[in-house]
Amino acid sequence: MKWKNRKRSIKEKLLSVVLFPTLMLSLLTVIIGVSLIYAFYANSIHDELAATTKMMLNCLELTVRGDYMYIDGMLIKGDINITDSTMLYRIKEETDIDTTIFWKDERILTTMESESGVSAVGTKANPNVKKAVLVNGEEYFSKNVMVLGQKYIGYYTPLENSSHEVVGMIFAGKKKNRVYLEIGRLIMWFVIFSGVAVAIATFLCKKYSNKMVLDIATINQYLKSISEGDLGVSLDGRIEERRDEIGEIGTYATRMRRNLQELIEMDPLTALFNRRSCNHKLLSLMKKEAVFTVVMCDIDWFKKINDNYGHDAGDYVLKEISAILRNSVENYGFASRWGGEEFLLVYNLPGGQTLTEVEDIQRKIREFPFSYEEKELKITMTFGVEERGEETSYEQIIREADNKLYIGKNSGRDQIII
Ligand code: GH3
Ligand code: MG
Ligand code: MG
Repeated sequence: MKWKNRKRSIKEKLLSVVLFPTLMLSLLTVIIGVSLIYAFYANSIHDELAATTKMMLNCLELTVRGDYMYIDGMLIKGDINITDSTMLYRIKEETDIDTTIFWKDERILTTMESESGVSAVGTKANPNVKKAVLVNGEEYFSKNVMVLGQKYIGYYTPLENSSHEVVGMIFAGKKKNRVYLEIGRLIMWFVIFSGVAVAIATFLCKKYSNKMVLDIATINQYLKSISEGDLGVSLDGRIEERRDEIGEIGTYATRMRRNLQELIEMDPLTALFNRRSCNHKLLSLMKKEAVFTVVMCDIDWFKKINDNYGHDAGDYVLKEISAILRNSVENYGFASRWGGEEFLLVYNLPGGQTLTEVEDIQRKIREFPFSYEEKELKITMTFGVEERGEETSYEQIIREADNKLYIGKNSGRDQIII
């Protein structure tokens, strides 16, 4: 499958939407952090090295008076021999800074040495340093000082006699690999911080999207079942409790299923189950081998009501009768409008108990004050009651009930035939 045509899940999209900016932000943090640290570090090293050379210069000036001379490998100040590296090694010990005293461009006292331990005494400064410090009398800072194969960041200060003649230099330097190690250590924290930020973002995104995607998948399955005609499905209540758009979709989907079910299963005039859904319900009762009793009932002389008082009066009677039937059957089974003014009641009760209920209906109908446009109407019904027996299909049971209703109609109406 081509990448372009590949179906991408919400989870994947969400993850990329969250991760891309987080990664970019982390990368930017690292880059800016590294640049800032490097600039700050370079600056502070410059100041530290400059201060070290100044400090050495002051020490020499304050302890011994007089000009510098270099005679027979000895550095003389005034009339004292100061050819002693003790101060230089003490500085190295305490600050990890290498120092050197130059006579002209030659290192005469130094802590610098090669990797194998050969001292840098006798080696020379490069021409740029010479020109800047010895000739021009300036201080000089370089990030690329190379001595015996070792790289340094270094600072040179001129060593002057009282006549301001530059006779040498004082150098302070830090090994570059040590500096990089220290910077690296700081940068590592930035990288760790960015990594943790990306990990947290991924975790939160996955956690949130997992739940969201799961709920969307549940709604998806729910709607699929409805679209395939299964209206008996139910949606996990947790989804409707969500206080977001997904929760709303869940609520609308449930409402849609309920309305659709009503439209398909209910009779609009009487709000009773229609014949189609009644058949379904009876079929599932037959499958369960449950005890039940059906009551086929029909309003007596109903045509006369239509003829004498009009169709609306007939509708009014149908609605009132339906309400009485529904109330009676509510706790035991269901009532349906079988057609016209004919109803089929199904009780999850044996015949005997059903009869009691039907007698109650008959009494209620007789007593009910039907009146249409202030005209009193006298309504009765005839009932045929049939308990489930040996029948193999519900149609057979209904036929039996229907026969009994027919008998009731032919023997005077307003009666219950069992
Ligand atoms: P019986 O006692 O033998 O049942 O007599 P009946 O007059 O009740 O029976 P019949 O089958 O002769 O008439 C039923 C009438 O019910 C005919 C039809 O116009 C009417 N009817 C059917 N459906 C509706 C409806 O939805 N509303 C109204 N108002 N009348 C309806
Ligand atoms: Mg009738
Ligand atoms: Mg009829």
